[in-house]
Amino acid sequence: MSEKVDVSQFDTAQIVADDKRHFHHPFQLIDLMREEGEGALPFFKADGCYLWDTNGNKYFDAVGGMWCTNVGASREEIARVMYEETMKASYINPFVDMTHPSGVALAKKLAELTPGDLNHTLFTVSGSTATDDAYRLAVAYHRCRDNFNKTQVLSRNKAFHGSTFLTQSFCGKANEKPEYFNFLTDMVHFVSAPNSYREGAGKTPEEFKAELLQEFEDKILEVGADNIACHYAEPVYGGGGCFVPPEGYHKGIIDLCHKYDILYISDEVVTAFGRLGHFFASEDRFGIVPDIITAAKGLTSGYIPMGACIFSDRIYDVLASEEGRFTIVGSTYTAHPVAAAVALKNIEIIERENLLEHVLEIGPYFQKQLNTLKDLDIVGDVRGSHFMQCVEFVKNKESKEIFPDEFDIGKRVSLHADSLGLIVRPLINLNIMSPALTMTKEEVDFVVSALRKAIELTQDDLR
Ligand code: PLP
Repeated sequence: MSEKVDVSQFDTAQIVADDKRHFHHPFQLIDLMREEGEGALPFFKADGCYLWDTNGNKYFDAVGGMWCTNVGASREEIARVMYEETMKASYINPFVDMTHPSGVALAKKLAELTPGDLNHTLFTVSGSTATDDAYRLAVAYHRCRDNFNKTQVLSRNKAFHGSTFLTQSFCGKANEKPEYFNFLTDMVHFVSAPNSYREGAGKTPEEFKAELLQEFEDKILEVGADNIACHYAEPVYGGGGCFVPPEGYHKGIIDLCHKYDILYISDEVVTAFGRLGHFFASEDRFGIVPDIITAAKGLTSGYIPMGACIFSDRIYDVLASEEGRFTIVGSTYTAHPVAAAVALKNIEIIERENLLEHVLEIGPYFQKQLNTLKDLDIVGDVRGSHFMQCVEFVKNKESKEIFPDEFDIGKRVSLHADSLGLIVRPLINLNIMSPALTMTKEEVDFVVSALRKAIELTQDDLR
């Protein structure tokens, strides 16, 4: 893609060299920073679904930042809100007995948008800290009811719930949990991911669902319901590989949780604010009302950091009881007034521009077009829902044998995609896509044709 932008102020080679020396990137192997390689690619401009690098090349950002640029990047009306809110009050202390109108208005709006009686929000600075707070609430809820042993967690293989020490312990992605950290393995128990391509192969969705529910109940009985505080689940997996569970799965799991007095925490850090065509996918897509929902990313469309842990009246009533007397914690930047104002404007844009309806209309087209890639030799599976999609690469389509990790097949494809003006997210054997909700049909066509070409070029390299 070519479009003239002025990049004369950038010395790309110098930026890359300084980056390697001083700037450490999340989830990058630190030794790679030392190598004489190409290094990270610097970008300096973002607009809508597009990015420009410091060499002047334009790209379609099919990753939507990091699953987060829901309304698209660099909107003037959001910049204006940031400016105006900052000029009104660049900071207001949220602790104990002080508050501010934008934080209050946002908490009230979230109570309207979330399902059921989820009327209470703890604001955080990220998705990880929302996951963290959800755990604290769950343990406190049980303690206030004299269940002192209910402290353990059920999670799922390949799940991603955060990057603090606690929340990384809840993640089921083994490759992101180096052994030297000694994560909290004794208190977290994992069940299978609803991976229909592999574990679900050869079974009807109903059979696969029954198997997963049985495994879940067996795990509860093995750990002991009296020891389990909560279960975390993403409605549709994010970084673990866009697994969409079989029909009725979430409903079955939440019923089991409630049967055994386990709180169900829906991690909507990725799925909320439109990615599946709803403000929250838990109820509108999957028909469940969780006890707690965590959100971040699309809450502010990545303009400014903010997360939210939204919990039910039922939990509130227990924590606020005379026996409960639970103290909420938080940090300096809890409910930052500028972030809250941005979130409100972001929600207004999603509503005003009918972006949810747009995603419900374009999402199936995106999926259908991506499915055409299945004729390619190394494409094993294409899966996801609406504006959360991924392609899984395999060495052998029949046996589903994977490429060795060090082969980094996802990265190989994504490098070719870069050269064609398309950004996709490589994750070992996957390419993940989560574009801004504004993506049009024409842009879908560009994404799918560029990705096809990138995969074909990779296949040529392998011959
Ligand atoms: N939960 C899910 C499902 C996520 O995908 C992520 C981040 O990608 C998080 C939690 C953590 O959010 P954050 O990176 O804002 O801490």
